[in-house]
Amino acid sequence: MTGTEGGGGERPAYGLLGRTGIKVSRLCFGALTISPLQANLPIREGADVLRRAFDLGINFVDTAEIYRTYPYLREALRGRPEVVLATKTYAYTAEGAEKSLRLAMDGVGRSWIDLFLLHEQEELTLDGHRPALEYFLRAKDKGLVRAVGFSTHSVAAVRKGAGMDEVDLIHPLMNREGLGLIDGTAAEMFAAAKAAHERGKGIYAMKALGGGHFYADAEGALGQIAALPFVDAVAVGLKTPEEAELDWLIVRGLPVPDELRRRVAARPRRLLIEEWCQGCGDCVERCAHGALSVRKGRAAVDDSRCLLCGYCASVCRDFCLKVV
Ligand code: SF4
Ligand code: SF4
Repeated sequence: MTGTEGGGGERPAYGLLGRTGIKVSRLCFGALTISPLQANLPIREGADVLRRAFDLGINFVDTAEIYRTYPYLREALRGRPEVVLATKTYAYTAEGAEKSLRLAMDGVGRSWIDLFLLHEQEELTLDGHRPALEYFLRAKDKGLVRAVGFSTHSVAAVRKGAGMDEVDLIHPLMNREGLGLIDGTAAEMFAAAKAAHERGKGIYAMKALGGGHFYADAEGALGQIAALPFVDAVAVGLKTPEEAELDWLIVRGLPVPDELRRRVAARPRRLLIEEWCQGCGDCVERCAHGALSVRKGRAAVDDSRCLLCGYCASVCRDFCLKVV
């Protein structure tokens, strides 16, 4: 135990996101998984998965402009004003931020966005994105946005965000081994998030399953992050109602029926290589089964050799690899 770990047992289903006053389910529906970048579900099917998650009581969705999920959300959010929506943008100017806000509101069919985040920030990029941040603060004053923050894979960025009065929430990468962190260790990230939470920042974690690396022990890996007392919610990529049901139980510390576990585990799985792969080749060296190669500047998998162990995901810092 690091002293920052939480205990077992049943946990509350809902909580407040820092000092925002916004109440969310402690499981956040990560929408990237249904998107054209991953499962590429038809709009109706993806919207149905979202709605079935809402019916379970999950009221928090995380997406981003680049995920191309607004059409799913437009369909799913109709008549559901209580669902809290977080989205993100890489915009760094006021003009870019305004465009992103407009795109999001028009895209999902709402006159507001609950949480607007600067996407994938590092300690230094936070300064470069200040005009966008300031735009979102003005949008917050006008009631177009309810809270403002950033997502990050960096411990240093969380430390910096903790000291920024204008930041309401932080969406940091947190998992048991720190897989995907660009600096620091898992323990250092836990400590940084804890300190930020003590300063009133809402913390909703991402990558608790390490980009798929910990699927084999989802209950342990997700349960550990959900149990951390300074984590208000955990975003997990979901693409089926069964996964939503399973993870909703895990996050609340409730027992998982064997039959549900089997149904989720029995689904066909494959290794997904994201389109933003840059062909660095690190994963090729990591795969002990000779299943990966770099072809035309991108990683490619030989499905006949791939054992879906997920080990290659641990060396890709850009999270291009996932067992889905
Ligand atoms: S998947 Fe990741 S590690 Fe593999 S070649 Fe692409 S960028 Fe590099
Ligand atoms: S999932 Fe395992 S077997 Fe498949 S490519 Fe990655 S490391 Fe190799």
